[in-house]
Amino acid sequence: MDPTYPVESQEYREKIQGFLDEYLPSNWSGIGALDPESRVQFYSDWRETLRDNKLLAPNWPAEFGGGGLTHIEHVILNEEFARRGVPTSGLNDGFSIGMVGNTILAWGSDEQKTHFIPRILNGDDIWCQGYSEPDAGSDLANLGCKAELDGDEWIINGQKIWTSAGQSANMIFVLARTDVDVPKHKGISFLLVPMDQPGVEVRAITNIGRQDHFNEVFLTDAVCPKENVLGGLNNGWAVGNTLLGYERGVGATTTSLRYRAELDNYIALAQEMGKADDPLVRQDIATFHTQVEIMRYRGMQALTRYIAGQQPGPESSIGKLFWSHYHRDVTESAMHLLGAEAMVGMGDETRAGLGAPDIGTPNTAANWMSSFFIARPGTIYAGTSEVQRNIVGERVLGLPKEPRADGGSWKESQSAYK
Ligand SMILES: Cc1cc2nc3c(=O)[nH]c(=O)nc-3n(C[C@H](O)[C@H](O)[C@H](O)COP(=O)(O)OP(=O)(O)OC[C@H]3O[C@@H](n4cnc5c(N)ncnc54)[C@H](O)[C@@H]3O)c2cc1C
Repeated sequence: MDPTYPVESQEYREKIQGFLDEYLPSNWSGIGALDPESRVQFYSDWRETLRDNKLLAPNWPAEFGGGGLTHIEHVILNEEFARRGVPTSGLNDGFSIGMVGNTILAWGSDEQKTHFIPRILNGDDIWCQGYSEPDAGSDLANLGCKAELDGDEWIINGQKIWTSAGQSANMIFVLARTDVDVPKHKGISFLLVPMDQPGVEVRAITNIGRQDHFNEVFLTDAVCPKENVLGGLNNGWAVGNTLLGYERGVGATTTSLRYRAELDNYIALAQEMGKADDPLVRQDIATFHTQVEIMRYRGMQALTRYIAGQQPGPESSIGKLFWSHYHRDVTESAMHLLGAEAMVGMGDETRAGLGAPDIGTPNTAANWMSSFFIARPGTIYAGTSEVQRNIVGERVLGLPKEPRADGGSWKESQSAYK
């Protein structure tokens, strides 16, 4: 079953196909086929092409430099790009456009929109996410990074951790405590903080796949202007949750295409390794096929909501749970298929980034090994599986809430620990 689109949308589909024919290199076989260096160059050039054609933030209003596309046009664009294995944005744009840009449009003042949105599209501001702290991950509301107003500036002190792509960003959105005398969720503000200042230190953390993907960020008397609070003072919990909805809902409609391409590689690998007749392998193939189909149908569900103009809500946790566990299982199973070869990781390694692999990724042991490592943290970032299950239970299914000791102020809760 495929969704039925209005007849007139075919015209827009052909327009996008024409755009891709015009701008993609003639030998294009998907971003996954590019070696790491060519990939970075392609991302940068492609971002400019998209921006010049008003397709970088296709659903943003035209007055803010977006494409002003209707929901259905946006969906068609995503589909056609995904089919050809072409990125819909630049490298940090998941944070810049997908998360903070959308959240600024939802919560920002006119001045904030006018200042930040063009800077995001021009690439003047490249963003990263300063939520997690050593003592505040799942229990994010427990965060201890403090911001105090001094004249026209916020003075910020604290530590953030696991800050993805922090090394390539010049702006960080920070959840900071601005009132310690109220319950923990009520004293947080969402601050927009420049990173190019002496009070911000970024230290890389090397992950299991040998990549410096994420960082620690130390804020020591870091400053940002008073007006850089997004969505109102002490309203950071609501603003921060709007952003998490975008983070968890991202790619719901096209992710299954990428997992399908990877599963085709998995089946080819089973054949190559002479294991396609093994009953246990066949059982795995059937399970993975079913799960990718479920993702496709869930994508259509998300698409229906999107076309109806609804924002991603707590339901996006279901999708996040589903793809992260699927990906952990399929990559682990690929390691079993590869056997001893999985210890050496032969062949080209072009695999990059978290989440689903890119279309065109070569079917090498090196790429499967890399996918295996990258899939592991999938059940942790953007909220752990246990936390997603709590969200689904409480906010989607309406089950009784987990008991919480949130009664007193954040300050009292800190002294109670000691
Ligand atoms: C690859 C990667 C990239 C990341 N990028 C960023 C980023 O860019 N910016 C950012 O701010 N953060 C980022 N994070 C951090 C991520 O959001 C946190 O790791 C995550 O929220 C979990 O927090 P924690 O690591 O402190 O674990 P903890 O919260 O300490 O959890 C430890 C364990 O306890 C379980 N647990 C905790 N609370 C409950 C509960 N109430 N019920 C049941 N079980 C519970 C958890 O599920 C987990 O298994 C990233 C993480 C990873 C792995």
